[in-house]
Amino acid sequence: MSDCLFCKIINKTIPSTAVYEDEFVYAFKDINPVAPVHVLIVPKQHIANVNDIDASNAKYLIDIHLAAKKITEELGIKDSGYRLINNCGSDGGQTVFHLHYHLIGGKNLGLNLL
Ligand code: AMP
Ligand code: ZN
Repeated sequence: MSDCLFCKIINKTIPSTAVYEDEFVYAFKDINPVAPVHVLIVPKQHIANVNDIDASNAKYLIDIHLAAKKITEELGIKDSGYRLINNCGSDGGQTVFHLHYHLIGGKNLGLNLL
């Protein structure tokens, strides 16, 4: 999608710091990290958010989780723990309308969900 920030990042039109890439997903450092590890994992196909997941594209959810597992292994936080967060829609705090999961860790995140 031509006017989508994350499509431009996937296409390398806009620079990012890559953390992981395969045929289906791209992962890069969040520009405004909230923890020592803050990575965004996105499908290479433009999907606005979870509301647009259907049988034709649901495989990306598996790809994103498999990528998350590899990244946590690579960054050494698999056993200490982490959070994989999706914000959906305006009340959910979504600001970029290309499906993405925040992989956050590297410190104790506590019990708060907000
Ligand atoms: P959300 O609020 O869930 O839509 O998350 C969007 C995330 O994208 C925020 O955490 C931003 O810090 C991050 N972000 C925005 N622009 C960039 C960029 N150019 N490179 C990396 N991360 C970005
Ligand atoms: Zn996009």
